[in-house]
Amino acid sequence: MRTLSGIPASAGRASGLVVRVADAPGEPPVGPTPTDPAAEAARIAPAVGVVAARLEARAATVSGDARDVLEATVAMVTDPALLDNARGLVVDGGRPAARAVYEAAGAFADLLTGMGGYMAERARDIHDVRDRIVAELQGLPAPGVADLDTPCVLVATDLAPADTAGLRPGIALALVTEQGGPTSHTAILARSLGIPAVVGCAGATSLTEGGAVLVDGATGEVSEVAGVVALEGAAAVAAEWNGAGRTADGHVVALLANVGDAEGAVKAADLRAEGVGLFRTELAFLSAAEEPGVDRQHEVYAGVLSAFAGLPVTARTLDAGADKPLPFLTLDGEPNPALGVRGLRVARVPGNGADVLDRQLATLAAAAAETGAQLKVMAPMVSTADEAAWFVARCRAHGIASAGVMIEVPAAALTAHEVLAEVDFASVGTNDLAQYLFAADRQSGPVAALNDPWQPALLRLLRILGDASADTGTPVGVCGEAAADAALAPVLVGLGMATLSMGAGALAGVGAALATASLDDCRERAAAACAAPDPAAARRAVAELAAKQAR
Ligand code: PEP
Ligand code: MG
Repeated sequence: MRTLSGIPASAGRASGLVVRVADAPGEPPVGPTPTDPAAEAARIAPAVGVVAARLEARAATVSGDARDVLEATVAMVTDPALLDNARGLVVDGGRPAARAVYEAAGAFADLLTGMGGYMAERARDIHDVRDRIVAELQGLPAPGVADLDTPCVLVATDLAPADTAGLRPGIALALVTEQGGPTSHTAILARSLGIPAVVGCAGATSLTEGGAVLVDGATGEVSEVAGVVALEGAAAVAAEWNGAGRTADGHVVALLANVGDAEGAVKAADLRAEGVGLFRTELAFLSAAEEPGVDRQHEVYAGVLSAFAGLPVTARTLDAGADKPLPFLTLDGEPNPALGVRGLRVARVPGNGADVLDRQLATLAAAAAETGAQLKVMAPMVSTADEAAWFVARCRAHGIASAGVMIEVPAAALTAHEVLAEVDFASVGTNDLAQYLFAADRQSGPVAALNDPWQPALLRLLRILGDASADTGTPVGVCGEAAADAALAPVLVGLGMATLSMGAGALAGVGAALATASLDDCRERAAAACAAPDPAAARRAVAELAAKQAR
């Protein structure tokens, strides 16, 4: 029985039987030439039929955008031109069936890419369809997350955010991926769904399908066990927190939730969130090929806002780009999308971005007026005071009283005084701030240690922000994943952070940790963490100090 070790990505323990998420099949070989080309060509249509039937069955179980996407995919699978071209490549070109489908779909995808814009976006779907038919012809399992109806632990090389978004807690008991980092959006979605997850777990894909495992999302350990282990409920810690974000001596730190949809918002309200510190509006539209209509946007925004009537809800405008491309906004073919036209930048380059932003701001303002929540709006990926001022003016034009920015780019942190002078509040996205500070891709397992929120360099940057907040009187909070770490939360407060926003599952643990430290304790811990040479030393120094302060 082995114990594998990975990066803790979403806290919680779960035990269940392993279901392997199949990888896409590789490029099929060009040969051997089939001995009976006609019979080989005749295998293609039934394989297409099987794939189409599976997708149709899945489409019947969902609604809205997910259904539209699946129905459009079925139409592509059954496209007669694709079938004819593939058959021709077998009969006239002597290709095996799987290779013929691969080439025919590839030519189709290239054609769409050449057309640009909306059509180019469909090339991705053609590749998905191609992989499914090729897998069927090769007798391999269908790629991606299968339809799940019994509880299991999902094990994958990696998972796309869109795959993770469709998972149901209670059915997907835990996620274990061989690749990926703790701040990848897949990890974030797992946290927001309350599904324990371990990422960057070497050897994960060698776990036996159907074998029992115990996953600890807090330590990153994945153990093979003889049978599924019965675990106790996680209500104990929650019971210790009285629901108010305060230090032991009463310093107020609002404890807020990060949410992506109405369901998450309702759950967060149940878990006693004092508002929403980060509503990732783009998550609702990841599969939308075109800009969602105002009615659809209104429905999504009102769903979240109405869960927090009378309380603050901070909506972030669409953070399109990098690992969350939105087909209707993201530029094609950027060589380095994480450093390209992402977040607020989309609205500042020529194109439709500014109009999309205006429609989103107007819809948010209208939804807030109906639901009675205190709307705050912030922009992602802001680098300069000038960009901050531009965004705030845009919000004001829509009557939005509280407008702020995310601090995710080191330049914005280093010019904190100037940036804060333009806004009503700021919120630090430590996931991206770490990624850009260390030049370390947040999705990459091998560089994950650099993205550790306990890195003293990151904490020292937060210190600059905390000091600027005290000087200007403009509140700065944290909404990156660092805020969900119960041991780090008092350090963040000691650095001057006014609010902490996190996956709702972490609220009780963070609330309980804050309630045991005074503001001075927090400041002492912040000084110790910043002075440490590395994350391990910072954790050690803070743990020792906390033990001493508790006496
Ligand atoms: C962040 O970067 O820390 C953040 C909160 O935004 P996201 O994770 O959605 O990029
Ligand atoms: Mg970010």
